[in-house]
Amino acid sequence: MNKVLLSLLAAALCWSAGARAADKKIVLIAGHPSHGPGDHEFNAGVQLLHKCLQNVPGVDPTFYLNGWPKDPNAFDGADSILFFMDGGAGHPIIQGDHLRIIGDLMKKGVGLACVHYAVEVPKDKGGPEFLNWIGGYYEDRWSTNPHWEADFKSLPNHAITRGVKPFRIRDEWYYNIRFRPEMKGVTPILIARPDDETRQGKSSSPRGPYAHVVAASGREEVLAWAVERPDGGRGFGFTGAHFHKNWGNENFRKIVLNALLWTAHVEVPANGVDCAVTDEDLKKNLDPKGK
Ligand SMILES: [Zn+2]
Repeated sequence: MNKVLLSLLAAALCWSAGARAADKKIVLIAGHPSHGPGDHEFNAGVQLLHKCLQNVPGVDPTFYLNGWPKDPNAFDGADSILFFMDGGAGHPIIQGDHLRIIGDLMKKGVGLACVHYAVEVPKDKGGPEFLNWIGGYYEDRWSTNPHWEADFKSLPNHAITRGVKPFRIRDEWYYNIRFRPEMKGVTPILIARPDDETRQGKSSSPRGPYAHVVAASGREEVLAWAVERPDGGRGFGFTGAHFHKNWGNENFRKIVLNALLWTAHVEVPANGVDCAVTDEDLKKNLDPKGK
């Protein structure tokens, strides 16, 4: 079979699978297993989001598991990219030439969404880039990561919050994120007020208390945010999702799904992305025990 026929066949297969050339490509990247069962379930979480996005008209989602994609063409044609993985010094995005690869995509206006530990990068490597790309990042010893129940009493009027109702949920909600000076261009999406006990950081790593976090007693904190970059690209940061079971919360899930559409320049439906997730769905694709 010649190349023309092969490409025609490939196009036909694509078409039959429902993807269209005009669809926005959203690339979901899951990190390696790193925690016990139910925590940092990047592989399961990304596949859950993928399943939800598959039913959204105008979206062509794809995913890669267990770290940075081995396929060198993984990001080709991407409209938005999600990173859900462990970060810090081991963040896949700062290894090798990855910052340059992502930086080139950002210059083209590709969207970027980082969830949970993936919002943490070292301040001297990845920090400046994250300030540009998504407006902020978790900075070691400046930001903090206790487990607490955040009460989202109201939500801002934004495409990402369409169909989302006030909710409360326990998670490892990072806060005191290092944002751009004066939050320039940053739109808070999720805001909650940690209590003073939370500010003691007894469950934080490294352990609190951090004097500057305690001193901010009573302050509201931004736990998810959105950014529109001058290059036309859009960024999103979301600090929760330590616990896999939290994807079972409709509001929690909808914010991330809406954000994936928004960062890919897909119009978010008036009621947001609807996707039913059952208890059975939450048990699928979990990492093998003993990690
Ligand atoms: Zn965590």
